[in-house]
Amino acid sequence: MIEDCDSIPHGTCLEADLCIVGAGAAGLALASQFEGTRHRVCIIESGGLTYEHWRQRLSRGRSVGRPYEALDLCRIRQFGGSTGRAGWGGWCKMLDHVDFEARSWIPMSGWPVDRNSLLPHYETAAGLLGIEDLQAEWPASAVLPMNGPLFSERCFLSPIPDLGATLRARLQAAKNVQVVLHATALRLDTDTSGRWVRSIEVASTPDRRFRIEARSFVLACGGIENARLLLVSNQQMPNGIGNQHDLVGRYFMEHPRVKWGSLQICRPDAAIAFHVPSAEARRPYLSQAKHCDVTAAFGLALRPEIRESERLLGSRTWIKPGPCANDWDGSEALHYLAFWLRKGRLHRDLIKSGRTILRHPAGSIASAIDRIGRSRRWAGHFHFDTILEQEPDPESRVTLDTRLDEFGLPRVKLEWRVGPLVRRTLQRVQTIVTDEMRMLGHRSDVLACAHGTPAYGDDIPYRWVRHHMGTTRMSNDPRTGVVDATCQVHGLANLFVAGSSVFPTGGNDMPTLTIVALAIKLGRHLQQWLE
Ligand SMILES: Cc1cc2nc3c(=O)[nH]c(=O)nc-3n(C[C@H](O)[C@H](O)[C@H](O)COP(=O)(O)OP(=O)(O)OC[C@H]3O[C@@H](n4cnc5c(N)ncnc54)[C@H](O)[C@@H]3O)c2cc1C
Repeated sequence: MIEDCDSIPHGTCLEADLCIVGAGAAGLALASQFEGTRHRVCIIESGGLTYEHWRQRLSRGRSVGRPYEALDLCRIRQFGGSTGRAGWGGWCKMLDHVDFEARSWIPMSGWPVDRNSLLPHYETAAGLLGIEDLQAEWPASAVLPMNGPLFSERCFLSPIPDLGATLRARLQAAKNVQVVLHATALRLDTDTSGRWVRSIEVASTPDRRFRIEARSFVLACGGIENARLLLVSNQQMPNGIGNQHDLVGRYFMEHPRVKWGSLQICRPDAAIAFHVPSAEARRPYLSQAKHCDVTAAFGLALRPEIRESERLLGSRTWIKPGPCANDWDGSEALHYLAFWLRKGRLHRDLIKSGRTILRHPAGSIASAIDRIGRSRRWAGHFHFDTILEQEPDPESRVTLDTRLDEFGLPRVKLEWRVGPLVRRTLQRVQTIVTDEMRMLGHRSDVLACAHGTPAYGDDIPYRWVRHHMGTTRMSNDPRTGVVDATCQVHGLANLFVAGSSVFPTGGNDMPTLTIVALAIKLGRHLQQWLE
């Protein structure tokens, strides 16, 4: 059943076996594990079925670290969360084996689960996201030498541009699942011992509130809001729930992104293998079309042996058509404007982009002309787009701001930091990739554009890919993690977290398949727990 908060009178108390906060990829995947069971599940979702500006404003916050996208632009508050049409690009991949391992050169690395134990859940997650065969062979790997430092890493394009729309009918029909829309969780209440969550306070408008009492609770509000909800729940515990070791909100990670270099392909067959058909692939995510033919793409990744011997982070390099823009600011502002307008999103950041375009007219016009004529004029010309893992850093963090939201709760303050290992990894990637391309007979250069090269000195202007990870990290030791391997919050018997906030490290890209796999694993665990 899906209903709106309007139908729930002020002061009501709902009861459930399991209360899930947030109906994004994590919350929906978890709920799907309970369809038709005898457990009563209540999902509360802050947004509605469609994108609404009023709701989106609740995600506003302040960025005080490295420049970052407006916090109400980089995540979506609606049923389906950021895996809706206004959000995600649909690209999916599993994390590598090495991503789960403790790596001596990366402090705080190592998951308390390994990939083998996640594999069955990855398979179920792939089914939910419409990916047919996660292990399918990928012929493009043939273009790279077997014993070189790079391998072609495959990722899949989910044919589901809007997970909420896809699962809506199923949840509507599920008798034991109640979805309440426009219901924003304000704070969790524990008993006097502080070890058991009794209820959650929920609001639809500032003066209309109700409670949910449940045997178990799962926070699935996204990588930033999960931490915020624990921190604002500070009536019984002044530092917030699950924060006895001051870890909640720390270790925030993104996937820093840099565009750089040039590649001129010498053989047309190689161009076919390298080319990521991004425009065609993304069409279903930008319009009403339902299907597309593109099911996979590949990027260049460093082999685990090289990562280990050179003590590097993970990375993934896309090969993109056309040259890399030299006027980075103008080009990026134009790209940004076009991206969000195509997604149908108007936003004050777009005014900022407009101003940047006016301040950099030459670069913006050159970039626009390039985009229009790209396919004809630049056949065979490519640039690189590298996405990197970042090392966990306790000072990269989410805290509560003094500014309040529409419900009177502190907004989020984000301090995003990127450590020196990212820069060293990027520089090695640039050298290795261009060397490999030259060895294959192509023409390739690092210095084709200024962005992401030594021209920027120590401060590379990293961009982001809207992946929010690490703020409630997973570790079996409560001194180094907020949740344990089952995603239960340390010290709280009936509180769990779903989503990429539990990632101790982030892999080299695309968290959503892992988010869904972990949520499915949590669902199976909770079914036993509730028995
Ligand atoms: C433009 C864009 C492109 C992306 N492309 C990709 C991609 O190609 N591949 C990939 O792997 N990932 C991609 N991502 C990231 C991906 O969308 C996220 O990793 C994923 O959606 C996270 O799922 P989640 O359920 O943890 O969080 P969310 O999707 O953020 O869902 C959280 C839900 O909780 C709700 N909520 C928040 N606070 C409260 C509250 N207090 N009370 C009640 N409800 C609340 C929100 O409204 C939301 O519906 C992209 C993201 C964006 C924005």
